[in-house]
Amino acid sequence: MSQGLVTASYLIAAVLFILSLGGLSKQESAKAGNWYGVAGMAIALLATIFNPEVTGLGWIIVAMGIGAAIGIRLALKVEMTEMPELIAILHSFVGLAAVFVGINTYISHGDMTGAMLNIHNTEVFLGVFIGAVTFTGSIVAFCKLRGLVSSKPLMLPHRHKLNLLAVVLSAILLIWFVQVEGSTFALLVMTLIALAFGWHLVASIGGADMPVVISMLNSYSGWAAAAAGFMLSNDLLIVIGALVGSSGAILSYIMCKAMNRSFVSVIAGGFGSDGAVSSGGEEEEGEYTEMNAEDVADILKNSSSVIITPGYGMAVAQAQYPVAELVSKLRAAGVKVRFGIHPVAGRLPGHMNVLLAEAKVPYDIVLEMDEINDDFNDTDTVLVIGANDTVNPSAAEDPASPIAGMPVLEVWKAQQVVVFKRSMNTGYAGVQNPLFFRENSVMLFGDAKDSVDNILKAL
Ligand code: NDP
Repeated sequence: MSQGLVTASYLIAAVLFILSLGGLSKQESAKAGNWYGVAGMAIALLATIFNPEVTGLGWIIVAMGIGAAIGIRLALKVEMTEMPELIAILHSFVGLAAVFVGINTYISHGDMTGAMLNIHNTEVFLGVFIGAVTFTGSIVAFCKLRGLVSSKPLMLPHRHKLNLLAVVLSAILLIWFVQVEGSTFALLVMTLIALAFGWHLVASIGGADMPVVISMLNSYSGWAAAAAGFMLSNDLLIVIGALVGSSGAILSYIMCKAMNRSFVSVIAGGFGSDGAVSSGGEEEEGEYTEMNAEDVADILKNSSSVIITPGYGMAVAQAQYPVAELVSKLRAAGVKVRFGIHPVAGRLPGHMNVLLAEAKVPYDIVLEMDEINDDFNDTDTVLVIGANDTVNPSAAEDPASPIAGMPVLEVWKAQQVVVFKRSMNTGYAGVQNPLFFRENSVMLFGDAKDSVDNILKAL
């Protein structure tokens, strides 16, 4: 393959990746978006492997074989609810790769001198820094999402000052590293600081801010890849890294807005936990009313408008299929049924949309929180299926709540609310939900799939 052909292939791959991102932004075009991405990646890999400058084809094939075997196994095995964990661990690989690439290019910098060497050393230093932060940050995120460590924020004293110190020390080391034209000591010390910094950054973030962390690490991994692209003089890696880096940053910003969090303070770590002495701890408050599936079926028969707000529990129970069946039954009976989707319902952005699309729920009745929040007042019945934090009225009404200010689906404004869950346990943020004790709320206990199946039978 000639160098010109490699460049042309890279250009085509870059265009395909942009088309892929565009496609993935809408459910209708998401499948096509995926295929653009697959095609772009296949072209990029072939062009890179058969680049005339590349040697050691045998090693590449062995490494790809091992990687593909692990990747295919994981992808086949992973549950939808485990997806954020998988993404987190994959980000950690990108970070680790950037660290290795950085150290490798530092060792073999050839015969560069003067300004070129300074630029090269700055690239190496920044690449290793971003890579190391991404690596340990992603591992902590993986452990938190998997439940291997507590999801509670680590609250070290002076944690913001510690973060600042890590950044300032790394900046000083960078100047030293460039001035002495590459000091192994400075590089190694910075790597250790960056590893600790990444770990501390994510460990300080707790509960409800985790979705932002995942998309932020997504952004970091993009910048780490772009840095590796600079070090390897690979234009495509720079373009893709920048695409991933900026789209991750935009997504983080959108999610912060959806949760009423300040972007800067989430990035600085440990936000949302400052002195939030909550009145909504884990203890129960007041009396709740329990109902069985037959009674809920009666309520539905007498309703003319229904909104379903699904959450993580629907995903765990895999209740989307009976829910879709319930929806078509109710619609056939002339009931107006819609879905209200909170931006962070479930465990990853778009989680609910994917599940509902899987169960072939029509897209036009699946509405975003902003589109449906004003309609709860005029709604007869809301079915809260396995959601908790995303429908918690204390976010809107209790300034002392840890999730105060987070926009939520205002389900309590409907005439009747039915909450599907297995117990009185709290949701991901660990905050009790006063909705369950409201007069217009009833609890339908049990696995969400069984509950919906029972309602279907009763109908
Ligand atoms: P929550 O985690 O707040 O609540 C889920 C509820 O589902 C629980 O209260 C649980 O209660 C119930 N549940 C669990 N399993 C079942 C089952 N088999 N059948 C019936 N109910 C079940 O979920 P939400 O979707 O409302 O909110 C998402 C939360 O996750 C937010 O705090 C968000 O910040 C966080 N998060 C979101 C991410 C994202 O990107 N979307 C990523 C990471 C975190 P019980 O145990 O009693 O059954």
